[in-house]
Amino acid sequence: MRKKVTVVGAGHVGATLAQRIAEAELADVVLVDVVDGVPQGKGLDLLEAGPVLGYDSRITGSNGYDETAGSDIIVITAGLARKPGMSRDDLLAANGDIVKKVAQETGRRSPHAIMIVVTNPMDVMAFVAMKASGFKREKVVGMGGVLDSARFRAFIALELGVSVENTHAFVLGGHGDSMVPLPRYSTVAGIPITELMSADRISRLVERTRNGGAEIVALLKTGSAYYAPSAATLEMVEAMLLDKKKILPCSTWLEGEYGVKGAFAGVPVKLGTAGVLQVVEIKLRADEQAAFMKSVDAVRAGCEKFM
Ligand code: NAD
Repeated sequence: MRKKVTVVGAGHVGATLAQRIAEAELADVVLVDVVDGVPQGKGLDLLEAGPVLGYDSRITGSNGYDETAGSDIIVITAGLARKPGMSRDDLLAANGDIVKKVAQETGRRSPHAIMIVVTNPMDVMAFVAMKASGFKREKVVGMGGVLDSARFRAFIALELGVSVENTHAFVLGGHGDSMVPLPRYSTVAGIPITELMSADRISRLVERTRNGGAEIVALLKTGSAYYAPSAATLEMVEAMLLDKKKILPCSTWLEGEYGVKGAFAGVPVKLGTAGVLQVVEIKLRADEQAAFMKSVDAVRAGCEKFM
């Protein structure tokens, strides 16, 4: 039997993710949205692309949740996206109510699923989803670090004129303005970029990575990025559906790791069919730990409203 992935929010990120899942033939997809006709229309359109592209994944759309029952993975992209001048935190109240309802509705119909939270501000929304669903920490994970690392990798590859496939990058902390890119753990063909570029060049790339989302919002003017976000989410979906045990930077509920008790933050985790299999702890320098804690504090402040 094919796996089943529910994607709530059939907007830019959600619909593109559904397309990527179908094209990779990873699972059947149920698209859910509040707007009448949109998930049904996009679902049908994607289904009709199958014969041309050669995939048998079934994509269906709905305005309700009954069709989502028995999902292996639930991806939450429902909510508002940023407009120019808005920070991710400006989305807090509206998206909190939406994510709470989505997590309750999907969680009770798919009690064994893993929830991937994409809606911003993502780390806070992951907390809202975990609380509303009652799911264990292994089963709720936020997408942010994979995207931020992909952006860092793209900029490193451009700067050095090398293949993106040679790059590896780690970005930790909350998926917000205080995220913590870690240059000494970011490599090209295994060589730390600190050996390949001056500190000035690296800090330019780090800054661009931090502003990566805002750079695209400023260009698009009516919404935020979705090609790279959906690709990043696909990597997480694939790692879990195929039980790859892949280590990726994701937002997870920390219970003492990295000196943090009781908060979602981006750290390297091992992903498999059961969700977050392990939090991988790496040694941080004092300045990196301080930047990480600052970023965790920003997430905690956002969570207060939902305690
Ligand atoms: P979008 O506006 O294109 O799509 C959002 C969809 O959610 C819309 O179709 C809307 O109708 C739907 N929706 C709203 N309320 C709903 C509800 N109660 N139930 C079901 N669906 C509902 O936005 P987008 O570009 O797809 O972005 C979606 C979210 O993902 C935003 O919050 C955005 O900030 C976030 N995002 C996060 C990351 C990340 O790295 N974590 C990256 C990109 C976008």
